[in-house]
Amino acid sequence: MDGTETLPPLPHLVTLGDPRLARPSAPIDPARIPTPEFQQRIDTLYRAMVEYQGIGIAAPQIGWFERFFIMLLLHPAGPDGAGESELVVWINPEIVSVVPEHNWAWEGCLSVPGLRGWIRRPAAVAVKGLNGRGEPVAREFTGWAARVFQHEYDHLEGMLFPYRALNPRHVVAIEELSRRDSWPDDWPAPGARSAAYGVVVPD
Ligand code: ZN
Repeated sequence: MDGTETLPPLPHLVTLGDPRLARPSAPIDPARIPTPEFQQRIDTLYRAMVEYQGIGIAAPQIGWFERFFIMLLLHPAGPDGAGESELVVWINPEIVSVVPEHNWAWEGCLSVPGLRGWIRRPAAVAVKGLNGRGEPVAREFTGWAARVFQHEYDHLEGMLFPYRALNPRHVVAIEELSRRDSWPDDWPAPGARSAAYGVVVPD
């Protein structure tokens, strides 16, 4: 034996069609956050995000119907150096306010394998919640980060991106998206054909 700690096995992903994914999850008792049991849950959720190659993951996606998620924020490189990524844990998060402006983006989800959706959401959000140490945090997000927060928050409410599609034609196969050069300009909606994954397009 090499003395390393044995990690708990990774739960499998819960996917579109499982009725539990379509129900609101339960709030977390803040007293539980510092416990080894809950800290291990955060670690396991993070390992699942890496293993399943997400940029965010919510607890219900691995079968824990509790209100927490992890999001990866990518800060682009500035003039002084390389970009950085920031891992943010949200426990019992709330959306405090949204701006009236909306934007569009292609969304994917570990729980919706094989599909992408052209989804409209508020362009910016003010949010609050607890971090991984149980401390209160309030932040504002715009751009792709606002998109990721809202997507992950939706999981805690039992909402998946296909349910948010304003038109069923806005949900496409990932493989088809890779062939979109052959689509008509305005298919499946104006602006969608040319929008790269990870980019938001104004309303
Ligand atoms: Zn998702």
